[in-house]
Amino acid sequence: MALRLCALSVDLDEIGHYHAIHGMAPPAGDRAPIYDVAVPRLSRLAGALDLPLTFFAVGADLARARSAAALRDAVGEGHAVGNHTQSHRYDLTRLGRDFIGREIDEGAASIERACGVRPKGFRAPGYTITDEVFALLRERGVAYDSSVFPCPAYKAAKDLAISVYSLLGKPSRSVIDTPAVLLAPTRPYRVGARFYRRGDGLLELPIQVTRRFRLPFIGTSLVMAGPDRARMLTAGVVGEPLVNLELHGIDLLDEHDDGLGALRDRQRDVRIGVARKEETFGAVVETLRREGYAFVTLDEAAEAHA
Ligand SMILES: [Zn+2]
Repeated sequence: MALRLCALSVDLDEIGHYHAIHGMAPPAGDRAPIYDVAVPRLSRLAGALDLPLTFFAVGADLARARSAAALRDAVGEGHAVGNHTQSHRYDLTRLGRDFIGREIDEGAASIERACGVRPKGFRAPGYTITDEVFALLRERGVAYDSSVFPCPAYKAAKDLAISVYSLLGKPSRSVIDTPAVLLAPTRPYRVGARFYRRGDGLLELPIQVTRRFRLPFIGTSLVMAGPDRARMLTAGVVGEPLVNLELHGIDLLDEHDDGLGALRDRQRDVRIGVARKEETFGAVVETLRREGYAFVTLDEAAEAHA
């Protein structure tokens, strides 16, 4: 059988970033439910499912000692960690070369300080990436990027949400991306002079879409689908050489966890209970395993496609 790898990665965007997307005031206090609750929960789930995870951490979040310790513990259990920038600016690509370079460098340094390992991979905030970011990553010897999300349904929904919030006078911090990203390959590729074309540049591991209709095959859409329909969606990615399944820490939380109730009107997935979410991810993993998929870190997947 041809190569069949699946990598589950988890972006550890803290709850404040969701407030920013939805144009809400930042949450009060020193709560960090992603690191305090979701990371240990994810480690336990990964242990039960016998697979490694790849966490994409935001450097600034690791200034909190307890958050840094949670990530260090996860890395100690065999999970990988990638760079999700220092401060998760959704408008990163508009901030100029020097700023972007610092966001990459400081993110990597914060992660290395917290866990003692240098991140090999990079993921941009909000899936928004440009040729300029790719050039900066390559200069720094980053092994791979995993930010390109060639998904028409996701892009349409995101653009609509940004426009609606703007009309309501509650501007979102997200930015509208170039439609050219929809032309990008859906399987691992080396980026060209324009990142959405093939070339001999940095290795890109695109965020997963289904073969037909390019539906989003990510944590949020699977959680909303539930276990049975998630199995059907999974059938739509079987046969892909790499299933690059991207979750967010919030996918393992619900509205009963500390401070998430404020999001329930804007983010319906927080209303779904954790037990059902775990059942959904278990169903996806079981389906892929039955189809001969081996579970690896995204770092290992990058090596296999290098
Ligand atoms: Zn993020």
